Amino acid sequence: MQKRFLFFILIALISFMDANAKLPAPDMNTRFDQYKEHFVLDMWKVYPGWASSVGYHMYDSVLVVPDDASRAKELSFCKANLDSLKKFSIAGLSDANKIDYYLIENQLKYAEWGIKEEKAWEWNPASYNVSEGFANMLGNDYADINARLRSFYARMAYVEDYYAAAKKNIKNPTKEHTQLGMEQNSGGMSVFSEDLEEALKKSTLPDAEKAAIKDRAAQVISAIRRYSSWLGKFPHSSPRSFRLGKELYDKKFAFEIQSGYTAEQIYKKAIVHKNELHASMYDITKKLWPKYMAAKALPADKSVAIKQLIDVLSAKHTEPDSFQAAIEHQMPELVAFIKNKDLIYIDPSKPLVVRREPAYMAGVAGASISAPGPYDKNGNTYYNVGSLSGWDKDKAESYLREYNHYILQILNIHEAIPGHYTQLVYANQSPSIIKSIFGNNAMIEGWAVYGERMMLESGYDGDRGVNSTEASPEMWLMYYKWNLRSTCNTILDYSVHTRNMSKEDAMKLLVDEAFQQQAEAEGKWKRVSVTQVQLDCYFTGYTEIYDFREELKKKMGAKFSLKQFHEQFLSYGSAPVKYIKQLMLEKK
Ligand code: ZN
Ligand code: ZN
Repeated sequence: MQKRFLFFILIALISFMDANAKLPAPDMNTRFDQYKEHFVLDMWKVYPGWASSVGYHMYDSVLVVPDDASRAKELSFCKANLDSLKKFSIAGLSDANKIDYYLIENQLKYAEWGIKEEKAWEWNPASYNVSEGFANMLGNDYADINARLRSFYARMAYVEDYYAAAKKNIKNPTKEHTQLGMEQNSGGMSVFSEDLEEALKKSTLPDAEKAAIKDRAAQVISAIRRYSSWLGKFPHSSPRSFRLGKELYDKKFAFEIQSGYTAEQIYKKAIVHKNELHASMYDITKKLWPKYMAAKALPADKSVAIKQLIDVLSAKHTEPDSFQAAIEHQMPELVAFIKNKDLIYIDPSKPLVVRREPAYMAGVAGASISAPGPYDKNGNTYYNVGSLSGWDKDKAESYLREYNHYILQILNIHEAIPGHYTQLVYANQSPSIIKSIFGNNAMIEGWAVYGERMMLESGYDGDRGVNSTEASPEMWLMYYKWNLRSTCNTILDYSVHTRNMSKEDAMKLLVDEAFQQQAEAEGKWKRVSVTQVQLDCYFTGYTEIYDFREELKKKMGAKFSLKQFHEQFLSYGSAPVKYIKQLMLEKK
């Protein structure tokens, strides 16, 4: 007995020593946590404007002059940290740290690629604009107004050099980005006149200091004006195309989206999905036609038939005065339905605050989520709802038809529950400054878009109550129309930047195939001609999550639980879907 006991102790001791010799994982994770803290603090020195925008105000008085020296500094920061990362073995890190590792690595390589290969700093004049950073200093109440104005004053001292460096950088810009640069820079000048005047009125700084601020602001306005007029006179002898081209596009997609698929694979999936959506929409249209159109004959052209039915269904909508109330009313219904169907746990201690859109956001009507930044953990999460008061009748009617009875429900699923807001609550449970700074947009948007389909598949329909097992065909038709938007965003972005799609064909896609209004389609064309890849994030994230869920369902058979899938999926925070998938599969 005794001998055997001793043997066990020996075995235990040996395995204990062995574990120590390999440097156990907890130690590696502690070191990695320390590294991350340093990394972020160093990063804010290189990117002071970014720091201010996420609520870290140590470097508010600094504006980086975008010259060779600052690019060299950025590159050496990237290189030094890519070297530091190599000291950690990924296998020894916790799941949370593994993802942080990948996010940091991706960010550093993305930044290097931007400077050396994408070179938007040479061809995108709109990438130079000082007004937003200054506007945030006036508009956000993070410190005493006098302190903010002093930082504002110190920061203005860099503006002259800033635009001088911008002019030196710009070579062969695209016409579209030149135009945008003019518009946005001119639009931002009010920050240094009206907005600054307002702030000065609230401040108790001595008159001499106020006068110095105003003098310097006048110089800033003049520098912005000179930059805009320089852009206006740019000769454009052989302008670069606004189309990014396949080689750069593929790389940008890889850095920005961090998908398990290539850009081309996603494009092909989007085409297939669009055709499936059209087929389902036509089936519903045929079914609902007699109910809404009485004796009117079904048009021979399928798209025309679908469009006519959508037009009729869109007439069911709320009124301007009850728009916010309609949204507020739906929140508890969504929560009750999710609870009843056991779809995902929703923490009742973190209620969502629905509020009227604050003034500084006004103009961008609609609805959006405002989440507290990484340096403001205790802040509220708001659901901002645009007000339609003061809108003329036609504009309000067109808006309400767009966000009609059906689409408004889908919007609430997307923005709030179980979409962005629910995802945020989960993300905040495993706090990581890295994930809140480099959070993956395709996962964030993809989750919200996935949530729409998941809710409809589970039977959600505001008209049918918490026990509904099937959404109405009207609801499905509108959902398909809504889903066509993100699907066609991807088709549009890829086609325009890598396949030379003309504006005419783009309009056909958006108006005839995605049932958008002319004005919306025009706006989308403008957006796609000055951005690249961002429009892909909705469909890519959605497809990856949906495909992964179906794969897992097949694999696990009867053991698969939707609730468990959702909760585990969200527990990794705002990480790229491919890494969540990898970690979840390791655990199966
Ligand atoms: Zn109406
Ligand atoms: Zn969204």
